[in-house]
Amino acid sequence: MSEALLRVDRAAKHFRVSRSIGDVFAGRHRVVKAVDGVTFALGKGESVGVVGESGCGKTTLGRMLLKLIAPSEGAIEFDGVDIATLSGDALLDFRRRAQLVFQNPFDALNPRFTIKSALAEPLKNTHVPKGEHEARMLEAMQRVRLQDVEAYYGQYPHQLSGGQLQRVVLARALVLEPEFIVADEPVSMLDVSVRAGILNVMREIGEEMGIAAIYISHDLALVRYVCSRTITMYLGMVVEDGPTEEVVRRPQHPYTQALVKAVPTPHLDQSHDELPIRGGMPNPLNPPSGCRFRDRCPYAFARCAEETPPLRQVAPKHFAACHLHDQAA
Ligand code: SF4
Repeated sequence: MSEALLRVDRAAKHFRVSRSIGDVFAGRHRVVKAVDGVTFALGKGESVGVVGESGCGKTTLGRMLLKLIAPSEGAIEFDGVDIATLSGDALLDFRRRAQLVFQNPFDALNPRFTIKSALAEPLKNTHVPKGEHEARMLEAMQRVRLQDVEAYYGQYPHQLSGGQLQRVVLARALVLEPEFIVADEPVSMLDVSVRAGILNVMREIGEEMGIAAIYISHDLALVRYVCSRTITMYLGMVVEDGPTEEVVRRPQHPYTQALVKAVPTPHLDQSHDELPIRGGMPNPLNPPSGCRFRDRCPYAFARCAEETPPLRQVAPKHFAACHLHDQAA
């Protein structure tokens, strides 16, 4: 991996949930461990996909990486500095360098702002000199392949298609010339017919601009197209981390194996195939002991209920958290 831009060290996010009457009388506070001890590093210019079902903690992790919510435990370093310590000008600088690409382009833009105003807003908010605005906006619009820039500038969000809007949302992130973006399900709200165009733009952004990126998705096919490395999360924990082609061709964790089998074949109604594993995600308030995947795992054995498997190296740059690898060793 190239030099690390981001280091995540045992980051956790615990949310207290509202208490029932019984909890109040018993003096109990119940906690959901949405993210529970995640550790990884992201190199400069590296694109990493974070995959897993809804509720696996990937969106919470993405928000922690951008300092939109604070970790309950652990630390996140950006360019060698713990982001928890950032304030004032240093926080403003971080906000310029690290950007979120919203999932829903229809909600991401203020309907009363023209496209030009929407693009200028982050430049103003982060005190970029006014003399740089025009050139930065023009370059960002060209990067996302919106060619007739002057025509777009005067339009309002409701006048654009979903695909055009998502390109504007991307351009709005790029005007700040970030070094790091988090894209949370960046095409899930778009029609299938325009997704490929957006994904091509995202891939080019990574290759040409050298922006490090975390792509959060339930869709391994998307991640395979855009990311060189893939992390699988299950119930708040990383269960696999490796080069994307390795993870897709030779998944080492039974949960990733199920995700790979469920890579959607195109359905006209945009539905997805069911995961080929039994049951749904366990209640995060009361996760299984030991390996959290054990209730759904076809290979579970006695030890899986007793010990949480650590991430172990199973191949070059490829890690998995499963006792089967310990047995094989
Ligand atoms: Fe399955 Fe056990 Fe491996 Fe968990 S540790 S994935 S339950 S075999």
